[in-house]
Amino acid sequence: MPSDHLPEAGRPAAGLLTELARLREGDLPVRGGQVTAYVYDTGREAVHDLAATAYLEMLEVNCLDPTAFPSIVALERQVVGFAADRLGGGSGVFSSGGTESIMLAVKAARDARPVEGRPQIVLPTTAHPAFHKAAHYLGMEVVHVPVDDAFRADPAAIEAALTPRTVLVVVSAPSYPHGVMDPIPEVASLAFSAGVLCHVDACVGGWVLPWLRENGRDVPPFDLSVPGVTSLSCDLHKYGYSPKGASVVLFADESLRRHAYFASAEWPGYTVINAGVQSSKSAGPLGAAWATLMAIGAQGYRDLAENAMKAAERLRAGVAGIPGLRVLGDPVAPLVAVASDDPELDVFVLADEARARGWFFQPQLSYQGIPPNLHFTLTGVSDVGALLAALADAAKAARAAGPPDVPSDLVDALAGLDLDSLDDAGFAGLLASVGVDLAGGGEPEMAVVNAILDALPPATREALLIRFLSALYA
Ligand SMILES: *Cc1c(COP(=O)(O)O)cnc(C)c1O
Repeated sequence: MPSDHLPEAGRPAAGLLTELARLREGDLPVRGGQVTAYVYDTGREAVHDLAATAYLEMLEVNCLDPTAFPSIVALERQVVGFAADRLGGGSGVFSSGGTESIMLAVKAARDARPVEGRPQIVLPTTAHPAFHKAAHYLGMEVVHVPVDDAFRADPAAIEAALTPRTVLVVVSAPSYPHGVMDPIPEVASLAFSAGVLCHVDACVGGWVLPWLRENGRDVPPFDLSVPGVTSLSCDLHKYGYSPKGASVVLFADESLRRHAYFASAEWPGYTVINAGVQSSKSAGPLGAAWATLMAIGAQGYRDLAENAMKAAERLRAGVAGIPGLRVLGDPVAPLVAVASDDPELDVFVLADEARARGWFFQPQLSYQGIPPNLHFTLTGVSDVGALLAALADAAKAARAAGPPDVPSDLVDALAGLDLDSLDDAGFAGLLASVGVDLAGGGEPEMAVVNAILDALPPATREALLIRFLSALYA
């Protein structure tokens, strides 16, 4: 049994590593392509091994002080330079991930052109929650705008949402949920005319779209070469296939980049000057990202992008042949969202059936009229034949099982629940009553949980999920 006390005497390495390996047995596999979200596998063992070695080489170097560790300046200049070279130029910052890149872009926009009153950021429905997080952390207001029938940002709606307090409009290349491309030139141009900055969220697309275009595919303009685009985020820990902790945010001009920085000399210790949110941080992710980029090379990325996109196209074609399922929108990158047209075929039940067959398909809840669906991020190793077979089989089983039984009085009770009156243990008890065991183990039956969340408004979903996380770690 795990104990709450640190061992008095240090334990030998072998036993600890065995314990880590045992804990990992409950995790989803990070290689092999059966998990269609979260993880990115090239299928090239040597690349991932090299990344791990490079990570270790840089592990204990502290990015806090680039004058003490000039290796990080040399590596970051190269990595950011490679990204700028493929994404329309600019100067940038290497960050820990999409969220940090977005936080920096939003901070830069807020500070570059101060407005009277609370600054606003205009977000299409499909923009990533990292922008909501940035607005929340940075004291800004989100102005929501709807997307069109094809899940694309609507330039007219964005234009109508601009006010004297708008500091940033956001478009995605592509959006994560459906893989569709926003009309970036139109939005960037209207933002420019209004004197407002425009961020392109290419977190997921930034390191796959350029290669698809170089392969001769038709990729609409999206990067910093588009007039009016002032910043862009691109995650290397997605289609760059680097280990987690690797993203780049690019700014069209260097003075905007400097507004992302932070300095403080207001204490008697060392002077703090940071390009990113973190101060002390390992150079491991930077070393690993650099090594991964160099080892794969441009031709390697073109090949990986092509494999992933072909997989996405085969998935789309295959889904058309599975009764009751359809693809949402017109994805330009290897991201596919699959919804159900058949009330008897519930996508959340389908996801549980797939999980029981060794596959993880990521559930996406309904939002603003967009139906619940399953998200697939295809990568260099996706075996679409096997994926489609699992999808068809799970769909058949899900239809036979029928939709989950969600008592409407339970949904009402949750919607009206005074969460503040419950502590973590009380909340865990409540979860147990709907069949969710926080102690884990086994295959979780998520369909009921997803169906309940799906029936609740976003604010209630958020409140419940915060309590879930708190109870999970209690
Ligand atoms: C993944 C993603 C993000 C956030 O990235 P993290 O690395 O998870 O912080 C933002 N935008 C889009 C479009 C993404 O796909």
